[in-house]
Amino acid sequence: MGHDSVRHGAGEHQFATDCIHAGQRPDPTTGAIMTPVYLTSTFVQNSPGVFRDGYDYARSKNPTRTALESNLAALEGGTHAMAFSSGLAAMDCVLHQLRVGDHVVLSDDVYGGTYRQLDKVFRHLGIETTRVDMLRHDMVQAAMRPQTRLVWLETPSNPMLKVIDIAAIRAIVDQAAASSAPPAGVRDPGLGPLGTPIQTPLLLVDNTFASPALQHPLELGAHVVMHSCTKYIGGHSDLVAGALVTASPELAERLRFTQNAVGAVPSAMDCFLMLRSTKTLDVRMQRHCENAMAIAQWLEAHPSIERVIYPGLASHPQHELATRQMRGTWGPAYGGMISCVVRGGLEKSRRVLERVRIFSLAESLGGVESLIEHPAIMTHASVPAEARAALGIADGLIRLSVGIEHVSDLIKDLESALG
Ligand SMILES: *Cc1c(COP(=O)(O)O)cnc(C)c1O
Repeated sequence: MGHDSVRHGAGEHQFATDCIHAGQRPDPTTGAIMTPVYLTSTFVQNSPGVFRDGYDYARSKNPTRTALESNLAALEGGTHAMAFSSGLAAMDCVLHQLRVGDHVVLSDDVYGGTYRQLDKVFRHLGIETTRVDMLRHDMVQAAMRPQTRLVWLETPSNPMLKVIDIAAIRAIVDQAAASSAPPAGVRDPGLGPLGTPIQTPLLLVDNTFASPALQHPLELGAHVVMHSCTKYIGGHSDLVAGALVTASPELAERLRFTQNAVGAVPSAMDCFLMLRSTKTLDVRMQRHCENAMAIAQWLEAHPSIERVIYPGLASHPQHELATRQMRGTWGPAYGGMISCVVRGGLEKSRRVLERVRIFSLAESLGGVESLIEHPAIMTHASVPAEARAALGIADGLIRLSVGIEHVSDLIKDLESALG
């Protein structure tokens, strides 16, 4: 491979190598080793309508964003990626593929903003949503309707860290698709030409919690992967962004059309920051996972803790599935998120959150610094109390985003806060 060629993933290199190199090449003009931040809104044309390398206007295409998108496509094992100004903007792009009367099946334990967009925005545009516990495959099957065009799941989920079997859900989606006979000879049966309605359901996996370092939903059957890059992909709590990745050229064409037509693109500077971040994704995730495992085991033995929810513990109900479905390049890996129930309910858990010194009390997750939050009061306050209880979000539940500090300092911090 020559120095100037753009590297793509496609299994040619190990993940850690793709993190650093995929989609990037030295700047052709100067040899600058890092992709420049192209702060430009427009591009000079050689002749009217003749663009250089496809660049005409920066909402449609920007070289810094193109490099990031190639990088993300390689990391997810896809062929096409689109970067957005937020995770919810990426979601909006997917939902714009649907039409009045279409139906969405959504996993019940999802990011609050995901449910809000479906319930408060797209419901009023004629798109119905059914929420189901996707650990119950019979219930997913029962929720599928002839009008179902999208199955949306998050694994591990937020904040209960349920692990959903992506391949099993894809099988249910295929069964539903088979009953709406696709035209013969079309490569991707559910997708006709741009501008025509989608005919069979798509499976989307929100891979934000696992990151591409631990889980490859496209290999497991997802048609499209969504990320809030604000979390592990950005990794430093300094930007808000989102992404979609697919291996279907037809779906990519639709998504890219909508991205340009609707316009929620990230800035070149944020794309540059994400490119810088994905270079360390593999090493960051290893430390997040190792720290989280040590802390989860420590919490499980602590007398003030009633229950620890972490997919890496043998006590987690989907521990075996997590071991099959998630994996780091260094070995078994279960992510950096832990939920646990503090004995003594609201009052005691509030005190823990007030007493931590290294963990910061804040929403969000996935940065290098450790965060702690209280779902019932903070991220999931908009979920009605009965619905929270049904999901298992107890008043004593706290959620940790374990950072990459030294684990002994993190444990000492929790020890003094719990004491
Ligand atoms: C944060 C988050 C989102 C929303 O992404 P934004 O970048 O905040 O718009 C979606 N899904 C999950 C799992 C998240 O954690």
